[in-house]
Amino acid sequence: MVKVVKFGGSSLASATQFAKAGEIVRADKDRRYVIPSAPGRRSAKDDKVTDMLYRCYDLAEAEEDFKPLLRKIKERYLSIINGLNLNLSLDGEFKTIRENFAQKAGRDYAASRGEYLNGIVMAEYLGYTFIDAAEVIRFDDEGGFEAETTNRILSERLAKCERAVIPGFYGADAQGKIRTFSRGGSDVTGSIVARAVHAGMYENWTDVSGCLVADPRIIKDAQPIKLITYRELRELSYMGATVLHEDAIFPVRQAGIPINIRNTNDPDDPGTLIVESTCRKAEYTITGIAGKKGFVAVSIDKDMMNSEVGFCRKALQAFEENGISIEHMPSGIDTMTVFVHQEEFEGKEQQVIGALRRYCRPDLIDLEGDLALIAVVGRGMRATRGTAGRIFSALAHASINVKMIDQGSSELNIIIGVSNNDFENAIKAIYDIFVETRL
Ligand code: ASP
Repeated sequence: MVKVVKFGGSSLASATQFAKAGEIVRADKDRRYVIPSAPGRRSAKDDKVTDMLYRCYDLAEAEEDFKPLLRKIKERYLSIINGLNLNLSLDGEFKTIRENFAQKAGRDYAASRGEYLNGIVMAEYLGYTFIDAAEVIRFDDEGGFEAETTNRILSERLAKCERAVIPGFYGADAQGKIRTFSRGGSDVTGSIVARAVHAGMYENWTDVSGCLVADPRIIKDAQPIKLITYRELRELSYMGATVLHEDAIFPVRQAGIPINIRNTNDPDDPGTLIVESTCRKAEYTITGIAGKKGFVAVSIDKDMMNSEVGFCRKALQAFEENGISIEHMPSGIDTMTVFVHQEEFEGKEQQVIGALRRYCRPDLIDLEGDLALIAVVGRGMRATRGTAGRIFSALAHASINVKMIDQGSSELNIIIGVSNNDFENAIKAIYDIFVETRL
């Protein structure tokens, strides 16, 4: 089986971390293609190399002296190279980077050098072939990723290469101009490479042992999720659980390749396996809980709304025209409620209300702010009776007032609206009932 392994910035932040990554790659000969990020933080106060590069380039663009900061960046690499006892000089590379910065080669070029240089170091350390992502990951002239061209170029190139390091985060357009994905984009490169080589597994090595059932800032020692489907993960990530770059899912999902999130600092932990579908039952009835604060509920009431054809469309038009995206839309017979992001809505509140009045002629428009949405996600809910009952009795016992309930027809999730102040307690109550007491 071919495995593609991607290491995040904290897994490659220092020589010690690099050595752990090296050991992981060497421990399994199937780990043939390696995607490094740029060196990340070594401690909470440290800088990520990518951030230093952006800052350095901003100085160059403002025609200020960027060389001291570039020297600092070079020192980060030298400490890794020396710590690993490698016989490798990056003098030539840094000379080129200095010249290109002075000639204002672009912010994407600047940021990409973090991964590029780390790729060179990694290839030397592992004895793998270095393949510059600029040659194999293709973007169009507007900076959009070209999936099919890339897949063709990359699979042809890697078919001739037994073991390679391909730096994450960037590629180039047809003219050779460097382009990057959005921040955290090395995850995407890993996924693209996995698709191109028909990998059996895409391992994504980071500094946590995979996804947790709930946010560890709210639930101390939250349990890990061993197995999750792509759809469940999408629901949880949408509601704020951050594990992978969103665009990393599509290439591997399309190709039916599972993702395994692993911990570089605890390589024996199996981490989280993300799959298309599974008949294995989840450990708990629910797979995960996630949520976000800061929503407003806009309730629109009108007698006989149910018989007015086109009412919803007209109401939604008021939001669309003001560029406001809609989160949820529970409705009753003569009432509909639209959940929107408070931050986005506040500045345009009066315009939206005005438009609603004009288009819908409602009897009443009521606004309630400072609300939070919580998603309880789980493929197991479909086959289990009483999940919703248990959630709501847990919330009632914790004296939490439920303001909205929305269950998707797929029965994959239940969305609950509560006041911002009740957010943490609501998550604790739901976690306790399913995970602690395993009801
Ligand atoms: N180095 C880039 C960033 O900090 C990309 C990545 O790490 O995935 O966003």
